[in-house]
Amino acid sequence: MHSDPISAPCHTTYMPAYRTSGYRSADEVLWVILHDTEGGTASSIASYFHGRTAGGSAHLVVDDNQCHRCLPNGVVPWGAIGANHNGLHIEHCVYACWSERGWMKHIKMLRRSAWKASGMCINYKIPARYSKAADLRAGRKGISTHAQVSMAFPGSGHTDPGPNFPIYLYIMLVRYYIAKRRVAGWPCSRRVVPAAATPRSWCTPPGRGRSRGS
Ligand SMILES: [Zn+2]
Repeated sequence: MHSDPISAPCHTTYMPAYRTSGYRSADEVLWVILHDTEGGTASSIASYFHGRTAGGSAHLVVDDNQCHRCLPNGVVPWGAIGANHNGLHIEHCVYACWSERGWMKHIKMLRRSAWKASGMCINYKIPARYSKAADLRAGRKGISTHAQVSMAFPGSGHTDPGPNFPIYLYIMLVRYYIAKRRVAGWPCSRRVVPAAATPRSWCTPPGRGRSRGS
């Protein structure tokens, strides 16, 4: 299967996702929340989120080969109870039971996700650090998981993306990509794009005239 470059714009074939809860301002965005889908591909999960039978939604879905955008960042998704209004949600097409070795076989997906998260961190002034349950409860900005959200705000009981998700490697990758974007002169806009608008205007490198997803 064709694999997009890590920095390729997200596909928007199935945007928008069906399940949403209105809008939020940029200042209300505190976290990047990481999930897993227990199977599927970025395309198939985005297609599912687009349909009326979907039980949830997220902003982005990534796999080894692609990133699909399902909602603009300014729209509140159905990602994780307690962290929807303040979170940017990224789904990974993997299984929570994976071992560390299993995750390492999909470093491309981790890199793809971390690249997207780095844009979110710049856009919303989110520090690339791990926010555990106590940090989430305190409203401290950072990167976290659905599992930590479940501990902070009981309601869903979800534990994705699983105990072996390499969170510290992921955060290192996000830091690396933040530095890379800054060196390349790719400061991202903090503009909150409403649901009806195309997200393609974000993060356009100066003078390049190309879209960058998030
Ligand atoms: Zn989840």
